[in-house]
Amino acid sequence: MKKQVAVLAGDGIGPEVMAATLKVAAQVAPDLTFEHGLIGGHAHDETGEHFPKSTQDLLDRSDAVLFGSVGGPSDAQHLPKWQGCEVNSILALRAHLNLNINMRPVYFDPSLADISPLKEAHYKRCTDFVILRELSGGCYFGEKKDYQKDQLRVSEDQAIYDEAQVESIARFAYQLAAKRSGSLTSVDKANVLATSALWRTVVDELASEYPEVTLTQQLVDNCAMQLLLKPEQYDVLVTDNLFGDILSDAASGLMGGLGLMPSASFNDQGFGLYEPAGGSAPDIAGQDRANPMAQMLSLALMLEHSFDDVQAAEKIRQAISATLASGHRTQDIAQGHWPVFTCSAFTEQVIDALDEEKRNQAMASIRSGY
Ligand code: NAD
Repeated sequence: MKKQVAVLAGDGIGPEVMAATLKVAAQVAPDLTFEHGLIGGHAHDETGEHFPKSTQDLLDRSDAVLFGSVGGPSDAQHLPKWQGCEVNSILALRAHLNLNINMRPVYFDPSLADISPLKEAHYKRCTDFVILRELSGGCYFGEKKDYQKDQLRVSEDQAIYDEAQVESIARFAYQLAAKRSGSLTSVDKANVLATSALWRTVVDELASEYPEVTLTQQLVDNCAMQLLLKPEQYDVLVTDNLFGDILSDAASGLMGGLGLMPSASFNDQGFGLYEPAGGSAPDIAGQDRANPMAQMLSLALMLEHSFDDVQAAEKIRQAISATLASGHRTQDIAQGHWPVFTCSAFTEQVIDALDEEKRNQAMASIRSGY
């Protein structure tokens, strides 16, 4: 039976980078069926809701979700279509699908060394590492309160973790570390936060079940510094919802920007939603200037993890790498000294590079100095 993918392009640059990615999908995964659904501000325009029932039904009959991004410009947040947009769409979607594990691969393409803030020596020592972020708990889902006390405005965000939530992602992390280099770093703030102390205890208790994995526990403040100074020490890094959100965006800076980082979110049954780590970039939306790499690499993650098609996933990654190596850059990674390609022109290059013969010819001409 044909596998079906729910496509939720959303707002801002979402529809542009999604259209580019579906062109790539048509080449590498012609057997998949893609069905579009409404989400975010765009859905609100059409239905009055950010996450309408029709989209929920689409998700329930799909084998995976390819998501774009949602949200509007900061100066338009008062408009009904943007009020609560992220909470009502992304957080609601995560809750609907019980997504509790978010995986963000950080990779270091040799052609992008010049846009990374890392010193060249460190960049060369890095290949890739993975950040795992717990997605279902912590202050994102706890009760929120605003009130007055002693004539002062006060706000509260409740952060809750139970041991089952920590165990679920910790087991995923140990298993992934065992498949990779055997090195796992767990990040928390156990010297201050009760949720972090529980996190550390649970991660520690599981260590004896995975003797092939070496566990290192780091405090998040130290980790933030280590990420910037010596990222090559990480292979699999696991942390909670809030720390994972912040650390993974910082790590995308090491790669050269948000437009480069894909992500995958899973539930306990292995169902996956795949999306760029960045947002809807309203500042460049509708101008054909967005970098489609993160969306295309999210497709690659989907092919690998939801459909076991490692070959097709690698084909996409190699085509993007060859496109970069042959000097093609969108504006966000051009750094003023590379010619700037539009989203559509960059996509055409990637599609060309999917053809192995053309890719080899391009690489040969680069090597021979043309
Ligand atoms: P953003 O990630 O949209 O943009 C930050 C900066 O990165 C901008 O300068 C943008 O132009 C650039 N950028 C991001 N993706 C890019 C790409 N693919 N190509 C080139 N440049 C890219 O973050 P923001 O500006 O803080 O938020 C904008 C909107 O996105 C807000 O409404 C926010 O709520 C929403 N948002 C949505 C998600 C999501 O849908 N998962 C995630 C984060 C933010």
